[in-house]
Amino acid sequence: MEKREQLYEGKAKKVFATDDPTLVLVDYKDDATAFNGLKKGTIAGKGVINNRVTNHLMKLLEKEGVPTHFVKELSDRETLVKKVTIVPLEVIVRNIAAGSLAKRLGLNEGVKMAKTVLEFCYKDDALGDPMVNSYHIAAMGWATDEEMALISSYSLKINEVLSAYLRDLNIELIDFKLEFGKTADGTIVLADEISPDTCRFWDSQTHEKLDKDRFRRDLGGVEDAYHEIMKRLMGE
Ligand code: ADP
Ligand code: UDP
Repeated sequence: MEKREQLYEGKAKKVFATDDPTLVLVDYKDDATAFNGLKKGTIAGKGVINNRVTNHLMKLLEKEGVPTHFVKELSDRETLVKKVTIVPLEVIVRNIAAGSLAKRLGLNEGVKMAKTVLEFCYKDDALGDPMVNSYHIAAMGWATDEEMALISSYSLKINEVLSAYLRDLNIELIDFKLEFGKTADGTIVLADEISPDTCRFWDSQTHEKLDKDRFRRDLGGVEDAYHEIMKRLMGE
């Protein structure tokens, strides 16, 4: 496999073409942003941790029957994935009220909700990723109703699998963000990443935050929290 031209540089990753038109290479950076790019910084070693944690969790999900874009880890920061057309939505899955939901509904962070909540946001930095519903998604042609039914059922399944897996490691899965894509033959697969950048992870006993909220809220110990997650998941 040959690494070719850079196709895209995002806030946390770069995407490169390869000599296989069906595959792209994702390269994870240490750059960190929050509040729609307003806050910028670096988290030393984050790219390595997010690459390895994402691949570890994608492999687990594949084993449990969720199709993903994962193909092969190439190095500490680089992974080969199926090239997809990203469905331009962020799927947010919430078990416990936190972040923007706590603010929007006037809930205290940490309140357990009676049911898992799914939210969809239109992926557009200039618009600040506005929340949309199934009518907007169908009207704008971002995904069909059938595709959204599949995306929703995969998202709930992913929540079941990850929540149970993390519970055994003393980690509470508060909420997380998913992205899905479509391969050339139209198959919907889980894409992008699942990492401390995109999930809220709390220690089950102490409720200590072990995720990007330490960076967003200047809580300190950011690198240590990312390392702690990798250690609990992968033993190192
Ligand atoms: P952002 O674009 O929000 O700054 P990143 O820095 O994480 O985010 O950039 C990675 C980009 O690659 C994102 O736009 C993401 O949607 C896209 N992406 C993730 N997985 C794939 C894939 N399998 N094929 C093509 N694009 C992907
Ligand atoms: N999230 C993300 N990318 C985004 C927005 C949210 O990965 O662009 C994740 C975030 O890490 C959290 C969950 O989605 O785990 C819910 O985030 P929320 O809507 O509360 O927004 P935030 O408080 O992060 O602004």
